[in-house]
Amino acid sequence: MSSPVLVLVTRPSGATVPSSGPGADGAGFALADPGLPHISVLDLGVTRGDGIFESVSVIAGVAPAIEAHLDRFAASARALDLPDPDRTVWSRAFEAAVAAHPDASTGANLAAKLVLTRGIEGDGRPTGWIVVQVARDFTAQRENGIRVVTLDRGYRHDVATTSPWLLQGAKTLSYALNTAALREAGRRGADDVIFISSDGFVLEAPTASVLLREGDRFSTPSAELGILPGTTQRRAFEFFSAEGFDTDAPRLRASELARADAVWLLSSVRQAVPVIELDGRPLEADFALTRRLNAHLATTH
Ligand code: PLP
Repeated sequence: MSSPVLVLVTRPSGATVPSSGPGADGAGFALADPGLPHISVLDLGVTRGDGIFESVSVIAGVAPAIEAHLDRFAASARALDLPDPDRTVWSRAFEAAVAAHPDASTGANLAAKLVLTRGIEGDGRPTGWIVVQVARDFTAQRENGIRVVTLDRGYRHDVATTSPWLLQGAKTLSYALNTAALREAGRRGADDVIFISSDGFVLEAPTASVLLREGDRFSTPSAELGILPGTTQRRAFEFFSAEGFDTDAPRLRASELARADAVWLLSSVRQAVPVIELDGRPLEADFALTRRLNAHLATTH
């Protein structure tokens, strides 16, 4: 397998003084050797998870949702009071990172990660980088489905309004809670998690959006519930609308999950995976529709 490509974004924000080193005064980014150390042990992204990221799917060298990811990257930066990412620099750095990957032209599925941290403590300058590597193969999950348990997130559905400092709905580097929830799923004999608010509303999975089908209606929980607005969910809704289905983003009660005709988890690199078991009870899954949806998600426009 080819090694990852690393691009250091040396001028991640227009508001910051460029750092020194390659790419500092020109493009604002530079290819670097991923085998060498680059991040300081004093970087607040490392020591406090104080930063943001995006995971972007790249198919045959094209990232169909890159603009939506860059929009969300900027929204996450605002939520954390980080300097605005320079969109032109990040777009060009992203294109350069993808183009430098030997598998970009072979049609392989690649996963790109964009990271922006608050930088070295006391320095006042953010740190940015992009890594592009061959994506993990999720074919088995897409084709066979996954078992999911619901877990209480411990926050009410209106947490984004009452306590914005909890950063719900921002894609921060602090994913230790999300991975802890996935380990809890494993202990309960499941593959993944759907978080429920403390007052009983469906939220999201640790690394994916939730999609429900009831008849001809496809629903995802409202983004007002302190969850990440999914780029894949948005593209899935385009697909369902074009197919003549209804789509909406309401508040969904946890009881509606168990009653749904079908449930999926949606995310950029994994795409749509059907849920075949919820809290130990079997759920119907529509594998033919899942295949068509994933074919749409794999199109590069
Ligand atoms: N919700 C959370 C918490 C996530 O981490 C992710 C993706 O990583 C998503 C939803 C789905 O977002 P997207 O479809 O843009 O990958």
